[in-house]
Amino acid sequence: TYGFSSASAVNSKTAFGDRLFVFEVVGLRQTPNNQQSAVPIRRSGTVRLTVPYGRMNEEMQRIARLGGKIVSIERFDRERVEASTVAGAPAPSSKDSKPSKPMTQAKAKTDIPVNIYRPKTPLIGKCVENRELVGEGGIGRVRHLTFDVSGSDLRYLEGQSIGIIPPGSDDKGKSHKLRLYSIASTRHGDRLDDQTVSLCVRELVYQHPETGETVYGVCSRFLCELNDGDDVQITGPVGKEMLLPEDPEAKIIMMATGTGIAPFRAYLRRMFVEQHDDYKFNGFAWLVFGIPKTPNILYQDKLEAMQSEYPDHFRLTYAISREQQTADGQKMYIQNRVAEHVEEMWNLLQDEKTHTYICGLKGMEDGIDEAFAGEAQKHGVEWSAFRKQLKSQDRWHVETY
Ligand code: FAD
Repeated sequence: TYGFSSASAVNSKTAFGDRLFVFEVVGLRQTPNNQQSAVPIRRSGTVRLTVPYGRMNEEMQRIARLGGKIVSIERFDRERVEASTVAGAPAPSSKDSKPSKPMTQAKAKTDIPVNIYRPKTPLIGKCVENRELVGEGGIGRVRHLTFDVSGSDLRYLEGQSIGIIPPGSDDKGKSHKLRLYSIASTRHGDRLDDQTVSLCVRELVYQHPETGETVYGVCSRFLCELNDGDDVQITGPVGKEMLLPEDPEAKIIMMATGTGIAPFRAYLRRMFVEQHDDYKFNGFAWLVFGIPKTPNILYQDKLEAMQSEYPDHFRLTYAISREQQTADGQKMYIQNRVAEHVEEMWNLLQDEKTHTYICGLKGMEDGIDEAFAGEAQKHGVEWSAFRKQLKSQDRWHVETY
């Protein structure tokens, strides 16, 4: 059910209705159940299936039922496939075919998935990636985690969160409650196969104010210590605050501190990394990212690569508090960068295509508000009323924790 609604299948003569896609699938079981199915399993273990758009949903579910995993989906060159096969039969080898760039999502959902998995019946995902994002000399530990959720009904949109229930119980003997984490992957997951969900998690660690003992946060510690193959209890998805507008011409101002980058990583991958037929970003994205030190710039290489590839569409501004200074010699926090560029940002806010997103540490809004309030005043506008108006137009989004 990942992104291919049955409504679109019915509408088979719409933008995608007459197109064919090639699924590359691994791990299909040959069980009595699929004996009648037309899935040919090659010795290599990889199967390529050509599937008309209208049957993608059905095929994805069938593949999941058979224990298969879709490793890629490509658009198929229609001319070449005309005389060929349809769902269930093998597609010509990749040498014969000229598939376009990888593409998965057909049409963004108008319905927003929420609470597909609840705490009483969580989804059990498997950790398939857990890597450090903080470079040498940086502060703390922040991990990029990916969970395999294949065969499940989980689907989500960029900007949503999932809940994680850590194992064990609290000091009252009750099972731990779930903790929310912003999803860092697009709806297609890092592997573009709609079978994973990724997070960006900071390990909470502090000295106990009375005993001086080192205390680790229950869930963040659990996540940061996961090994490949470990199970994770997942709930959700939740959240409608941070959804990205569907308009590919939108102007998106993003302000992040630390792991607040998570939803923005998803947005930026959707805008600049993935290929979609129905979402070709042609607007403007501006990320202001606040971190303490250079090695704490999460996903630095990817962000900078996007900026150099799309300089007209993506602007990247860091506020590195322990290394950079403001004009008057103060530490450079995110609100100082906003203050520096506030005239330009204010002008952007006047454009109804502009949407602003704030994500990260609780309290980061105050300084940002202060910067905008000063600029608004210059224009004879009361900032809180203006911000309220932006909010009512669904153009001002905040998620802090
Ligand atoms: P817990 O074991 O629950 O400990 C937290 C408690 O420790 C605090 O309530 C406080 O009582 C105490 N404490 C914390 N610091 C100190 C201190 N310095 N001194 C004394 N006591 C202290 N986190 C991420 O890493 N990445 C995300 O993308 C992310 N997204 C979120 C999205 C949303 C919508 C929300 C609400 C939260 C998000 N969080 C995210 C935070 C996350 O949910 C957890 O709160 C965080 O990981 C800590 O949980 P824990 O179980 O590790 O800590």
